[in-house]
Order: sequence, then C-alpha cells, then structure tokens
Amino acid sequence: MSAQQQGRPEVGRLEVITGPMFSGKSEELIRRLKRARIARQRVACFKPDIDLRYHRSAIASHSSQTHEAETVASVERLREALAPQLGEVEVIGIDEAQFLDEAIIPLAVELVHLGKRLLVAGLDTTFAAEPFGPIPALMALSDEVTKLSAVCMVCGAPAIHTQRLGQSQELVVVGAAGLYEARCRRCFHPWVDGFGSEQLELLPVTTEG
Ligand code: ADP
Ligand code: MG
Ligand code: ZN
Repeated sequence: MSAQQQGRPEVGRLEVITGPMFSGKSEELIRRLKRARIARQRVACFKPDIDLRYHRSAIASHSSQTHEAETVASVERLREALAPQLGEVEVIGIDEAQFLDEAIIPLAVELVHLGKRLLVAGLDTTFAAEPFGPIPALMALSDEVTKLSAVCMVCGAPAIHTQRLGQSQELVVVGAAGLYEARCRRCFHPWVDGFGSEQLELLPVTTEG
C-alpha cells in the first residue's frame, strides 16, 4: 500500500513551534508527538545537550509533561543518530532547536524531501530580542509556523519576549529557574533586569554544539 493510500502524504512537512520562554512550545511539541504515536506512527525525538533541565533522556515542559528524547551534541550527531532508524521513523521532533548549529537547516529540508514530518520547537528570539540561531530560517522554510505567546509576568498581557533577570551576563544560561520571565512588548527591555542598559555588553549568540 502506498503512503497516499494509507492517508499519509508522499512528501514530508516542516512544522515550526516558536515563541518566548513559557509560551508552551515544549507542551505543544509533546502533544503533537503523542498524537502521532496514537496514530501508530514511528516517532523519534531529539534535543541539544545544552538543555540538561530535568532529564537527559527526555524533553520536558514547565508544566512537567515529558516525552522521551535523545540528547545530541551537534547536528552531525543528530544525523548519525537518525541514520539507522530513518527507514522506520515517520515523525521527528526536535526541542530547543535554537541551540543547534546552522547545519540543521539543510538537514531539515532533506528530511522533508525524504517524506518525514519534522516538528521543530525553539525560541524565535534571544533575551536581547534578536533572531535566535537557525529558528528564523527554519520558520521561512516551513510548511507551518505556530507562534505561541506566553503571559507577561508584569502585566498579564500576551508576551512575545523573554526577559532575562538577575545578575548573570552570560548570553546563554539555560533554563535556570528565576532567570527568565515572559514579557509583553511594553514590559520587556533588551537588557538584564537589575542592570542598567549600558552595563550589559551583549555577546554574539553561539549556535555551535
Ligand atoms: P516553553 O517550552 O515555550 O518554554 P513549556 O511548554 O515548557 O513552554 O511550558 C508552558 C507552561 O508553562 C504553561 O502551560 C504554564 O503551565 C507554565 N507557565 C509558567 N509561566 C508562564 C507564563 N508566564 N506564561 C504562560 N505559561 C506559563
Ligand atoms: Mg521548552
Ligand atoms: Zn506586560
């Protein structure tokens, strides 16, 4: 029976789930992966190893939902991990994809051409409100973008920004509780809350690794 007769498309699909921290990206990714499994599709899930919150072998949401996932150090490792299961896997999820290197962009296109449904979740902007790693390019190349908002922790309006809080000036501090807040356009400012704007020297975002 062909893929089409089974009700599956012949070509794949790239779906990007994006927005600020706490907007429900991981929840939505987990929801889609679970539904794919209910539909008896073979699912594989990955995350970069910069995100070591909660689990090495799962992705997790702030609302404590989880889905098993393999941690990969780079896109090259992701490709290697995927290769032996590429025959069976139909749906591929990637969380925290903003931390992956640019090689994820051609790999995503390749996987879609192989007929895979690729679900990519990641931050669209850094805490400096700049486009984050490969996510903007993946959005441009996708079949569908779901841009989620969080709730502004100052005023309750829909939040599109991730506000960095506290004393750390390192650009990438992953997932530490109390270090980030969702903020609306009005309540957000692109420097660390607690510092003056002149005190923060922004470093370039590294997407390696
Ligand atoms: P993301 O992956 O986008 O960071 P998660 O899926 O991990 O988001 O978490 C979303 C959940 O976070 C929400 O369902 C809610 O329970 C919780 N949450 C905590 N703070 C906020 C906030 N400011 N706005 C919206 N949801 C929040
Ligand atoms: Mg998440
Ligand atoms: Zn606000």
